[in-house]
Amino acid sequence: MRIVFLGPPGAGKGTQSVRLAKELGIAHLSTGEMLRAARVRRTDLGLLVADYLDNGQLVPDQMVLDIVADRTALADCQPGCIFDGFPRTIAQAEALDRLLAQRHTPLDLVIELVIDQGELLKRLMKRGRGDDNMATIQQRLQSYENQTAPLVKYYSERRLLNSVNAAGSAEDVYNAIVAAVESVK
Ligand code: AMP
Repeated sequence: MRIVFLGPPGAGKGTQSVRLAKELGIAHLSTGEMLRAARVRRTDLGLLVADYLDNGQLVPDQMVLDIVADRTALADCQPGCIFDGFPRTIAQAEALDRLLAQRHTPLDLVIELVIDQGELLKRLMKRGRGDDNMATIQQRLQSYENQTAPLVKYYSERRLLNSVNAAGSAEDVYNAIVAAVESVK
């Protein structure tokens, strides 16, 4: 099973998608984690993406697409995977569709975590990750609105979208996600 998690920073994509991947026995792929790890290791990619991460801007599509193509070819993705924070642009979504079509492993479901801005800001300020300062947070929310939110329509038109209210407790949100997964099994 292949699932995309869509939602603004702070909506809970990480927490929820890690738990779901474990439950389903499939791989959890976070492009944000992969990029941060590359940066810590100071690989060529890491050095190229550092400024984007610091500024809360999306890294260029091709860089992300290359790491996703490599990562999804590994054996642990055979039973399926969850894409957490990818795709983030229409171009990435189209490229993912092409990649998965070549492999005859299409997407099964897109889960959108829906939450209002006030609650997001509260959560992000509490989280305190390196890129969680006010200026970066605002830039990341803006990137989401401008570049990622159009994916809601993209996946809705493809009948893959399932929107979940992410304002409740982690447990309630998780149960709603499991119900969405059950509905496509
Ligand atoms: P995340 O951990 O998913 O919030 O991602 C942290 C940062 O990594 C983002 O603010 C972007 O700079 C970068 N990033 C992660 N995933 C992507 C992606 N799919 N496309 C472009 N940039 C990304």
